[in-house]
Amino acid sequence: MPKLLLRILLSLSVAVSHRTLADDAFLENVAPGVYMHRGHTADIDDAARGDSANLGVVIGARCVAVIDTGGSLATGRALRAAIGKLTDKPVCYVINTHVHFDHVLGNGAFVAAKAEFVGQQHLADNLEASSEFFAENFSAELEGQHGAAVVVLPMRRVEREARLDLGQRTLLLEAVARAHTETDMTVLDEKTRTLFSGDLVFRERLPVLDGSLKGWLAWLQAASGRSYDRVVPGHGPLDEHWPASARTEQGYLEALLKGTRDAIAKGIFIEDAKHSVATEALKGWQLTERVHPLNVSRAFRELEWE
Ligand SMILES: [Zn+2]
Repeated sequence: MPKLLLRILLSLSVAVSHRTLADDAFLENVAPGVYMHRGHTADIDDAARGDSANLGVVIGARCVAVIDTGGSLATGRALRAAIGKLTDKPVCYVINTHVHFDHVLGNGAFVAAKAEFVGQQHLADNLEASSEFFAENFSAELEGQHGAAVVVLPMRRVEREARLDLGQRTLLLEAVARAHTETDMTVLDEKTRTLFSGDLVFRERLPVLDGSLKGWLAWLQAASGRSYDRVVPGHGPLDEHWPASARTEQGYLEALLKGTRDAIAKGIFIEDAKHSVATEALKGWQLTERVHPLNVSRAFRELEWE
């Protein structure tokens, strides 16, 4: 190999490893005692899917709360290790915002911490119902674990709302009616007015509908009237200008609602609607190819009989 080429390759590999080191900041500090991890923009069939959701950490005077654990045990462990670099305080709560794999498969990394797992009232049943799907499709992310070990279920189930005390700061947990899924729950750090929305808010990456389109729009309508200093979405960058991200998401979901209703009124078949409804609203969104047709068919089934 020519020496110059070798030197370039070596310097490149140094640059790459250097960047990995710089990226070592797994958690970004977004407010006093509040951190977020930004997941990769990766779809379900992408190699980076195990680290594709945003995760949160809130540190109180007494202990630490984790909001979502990532889509693999490795991501959960990386989160635990990153917390260990910030504080010696124990992780007392692991909160899951909803049932999707990219938010829950890292739960197992926090079992040894003896944390209390918390979720919306329907989360446990939904996780149990999904456990076979997880075991079959996410064997690598779960490192081959089966059965009860697959995903840790919530011990505390939130029906409407709950407050968790971390020591001189409280988190307000609010269960949400069927919206992104039927298991959604938001987490508000009251001290800094930071909302962890879970996947009720997507930025950049196209929202995935797996619950109720009308319910989701109703939540967005209500939440956009509230004031938050910042919102950590389930995917994409932090929103420091709330309700900016709500408005963008509303734009897509409203186009989906209107387009699907029009298609139903015109007697268009669902298979044809998948590729024609609301396509103009996809501009600016990522990962649309697989998700948008799924969203249309879910909207179709919801709106068909109204
Ligand atoms: Zn989700």
